[in-house]
Amino acid sequence: MALTVKEIFEKEEFTRENIIYLLESTGADRTLLFKKSAEIKEKHIGNKVWFRGLIEFSNICGKDCLYCGIRKGNKNLTRYNLSDEEILAAANFAYINRYGSIALQSGELESPYVADRIENLLYKIKELSEGELGVTLSVGEQEPEVYKKWYDAGAHRYLLRVEATNRKLYSKIHPNDSKHDFNRRLNCLKSLQDIGYQTGTGVMIGLPFQTMDDLAGDLLFMKDFNIDMCGMGPYIEHAGTPLIEYSEQLMPLSERFDLTLKMIAIIRIMMQDINIVAATALQAIDPIGREKAVKIGANILMPNITPGKYRDSYKLYDNKPCTDDSAEDCQSCLEARISLADAEVIYGEWGDSKHYMERTGK
Ligand code: SAM
Repeated sequence: MALTVKEIFEKEEFTRENIIYLLESTGADRTLLFKKSAEIKEKHIGNKVWFRGLIEFSNICGKDCLYCGIRKGNKNLTRYNLSDEEILAAANFAYINRYGSIALQSGELESPYVADRIENLLYKIKELSEGELGVTLSVGEQEPEVYKKWYDAGAHRYLLRVEATNRKLYSKIHPNDSKHDFNRRLNCLKSLQDIGYQTGTGVMIGLPFQTMDDLAGDLLFMKDFNIDMCGMGPYIEHAGTPLIEYSEQLMPLSERFDLTLKMIAIIRIMMQDINIVAATALQAIDPIGREKAVKIGANILMPNITPGKYRDSYKLYDNKPCTDDSAEDCQSCLEARISLADAEVIYGEWGDSKHYMERTGK
């Protein structure tokens, strides 16, 4: 006989079946799930949220992921690459406003030029903030030497979503060529962890062809890999991508949203002290989507501090929110919303993953 939700919570480790049961929970069981994850967050993290000022510094990408609006093959997009001065000005905005950390994100490009440019920017960001700004990188797959160079230059967290851990699903949402190799993605994650980064990964939720079993496998992978940070969000279709062909097969957006909250709640219960991002894509579905995620387990928000004129061109999916806001708008709006979730924004701190400290003894 299947275990009840309460019996599942008493277990040390969740099985695949337990996770599927929780993902499919409704009514009182669903309420119990969110209550439990909120309690665990309160106990291990407190009702706190840390900022990572997000600088989407370039939408130029060498990859052709079948779901992504900035894929190389999308010709209906103005490509941009912020100047070093623009990136440093955005970093300075985060520093002056005591964000504690920034996240540098872009499309995926591998070249000695990109490696040196980011290294140089990292040194400059550390210099302008007198070492105070923490830096998360999210610039995709790179060689271990490049990751090491950036780590030595001061980046200490890296977010590389595995996107989907079922290899068959991975191959349905990516071109099947050497540029989109699942094994390479895994090896990159391993190198990041070995080098000493706080390592984050995640998946998209509600993809075409994805099953509850796949999602349960994703959470088991994260636990087994011993990640320090998690960034998961709903898949949202983009009209200029090949996967748009399957949009009729997708579950409604409201269900993708609910499933994302459940994924966040379950990973919070499974990995109590990791950092969990409330993804921007949640807000594309529900205006207070990120706040709902904070209430049930997330503790990291990424206010967008990319200069406004570029935001419209970093459209990963349709209806991406806040593309016409300024960095200042973004901050005051988020702060007001977070207090609605009874949480407090902690300024001037890195808000590092406690799990990383436990895991490494640092
Ligand atoms: N290229 C880098 C990488 O893969 O790590 C970072 C940039 S990439 C655009 C950032 C994330 O956007 C991806 O990891 C993916 O999960 C997410 N993304 C792309 N297209 C999306 C879509 N249609 N819906 C939701 N999320 C999407």
